[in-house]
Amino acid sequence: MFCVECGKEEKIFRNGVCISCYLKNNSFTKGPEILDIYICPKCSSYKYKNTWMQGSFEKALKRQIKDNFQISSELKKVQIKTDCDEKGKNISCKVVISGYLEGHEISEKHSLTVRIRGVVCDICSKQFGGYFEATLQVRANKRKLTKEELETIRLNVENLVESIRAKGNRGLFITDIAEEHGGIDFYLSEKGSAYTIAKKIQEKFGGEIKQSSKNAGMKDSRQIFRMTRLIRLPAYRKEDFISLDNSYFYISSISGNKVHTFELSNWTERVFDGKDLQKASIIGGKELVKEMIFVSQSKDEMQVMDPKMYKTFEVRKPKNISFESKVVKIVKMEDKIFLFPEKNITNK
Ligand SMILES: [Zn+2]
Ligand SMILES: [Zn+2]
Repeated sequence: MFCVECGKEEKIFRNGVCISCYLKNNSFTKGPEILDIYICPKCSSYKYKNTWMQGSFEKALKRQIKDNFQISSELKKVQIKTDCDEKGKNISCKVVISGYLEGHEISEKHSLTVRIRGVVCDICSKQFGGYFEATLQVRANKRKLTKEELETIRLNVENLVESIRAKGNRGLFITDIAEEHGGIDFYLSEKGSAYTIAKKIQEKFGGEIKQSSKNAGMKDSRQIFRMTRLIRLPAYRKEDFISLDNSYFYISSISGNKVHTFELSNWTERVFDGKDLQKASIIGGKELVKEMIFVSQSKDEMQVMDPKMYKTFEVRKPKNISFESKVVKIVKMEDKIFLFPEKNITNK
């Protein structure tokens, strides 16, 4: 058959013309010359319909093209390719839409100008408006948190927030962080996540969680309650010496609620639950360990000399062992003196 348009002997596609003549006169995709894309200048998410989504410019653009271009339903296996000069606020793009028309592969090109519009998204406007639903307070029992503890806790909370956000919860953010009363306060945008974070911090640092809520007025004709979660870290820390029921312990490590200790009178390891140590008293830290000069030993005792006072005294051995070193470490607690098994402990 001859094509009525080009006169060539070709297979007729439709209306008496060949496929290439048909394509010259018909198009299957149509779109605007200008497209507006809204981006949040704070968090770089793109607006799509009534929500905000994270991702690349290309992804956001393709979403908009799908919605704003008319693509004939005759076209199957549609693919959209874009090539943009991503500079400034007006971006010029080449858009290629391809697909199959009754088995014939076709593609159509469009020039598109994308106008980038900055609008602060719903979540960022909450965040920068100081919005918060929960306060997470971290304090230590009967003492102030050390600089190091403040830093570690801050980093841990920030990382937890980041990981929850990365799992898709974009609504969670830290509105503010304040160091108060020897502790630290985090203002968080979500009650539920604040609880998750509090639990994780407690698992890692020990202590207990207390909770209170306060009516913070009305919002969208609903009462809103602000939640405060207080994590009270234990008064004792790793490497502290404590006494409990007339026994003396060295804290070798703390993991979550478990406190690993070393009983000084017999050099045995004991693990306590945090709550079991609420009545314990802290005698001191590493500064209690003193170096003495070894003088002599018997089966049960050792004689050592204080190098500053030139005074000798006896210390009971915690078990039947023989010492060979010239220097012996001891710990003086209240009126008792113990040998300090430094090596045994640091290996734990
Ligand atoms: Zn033709
Ligand atoms: Zn935003």
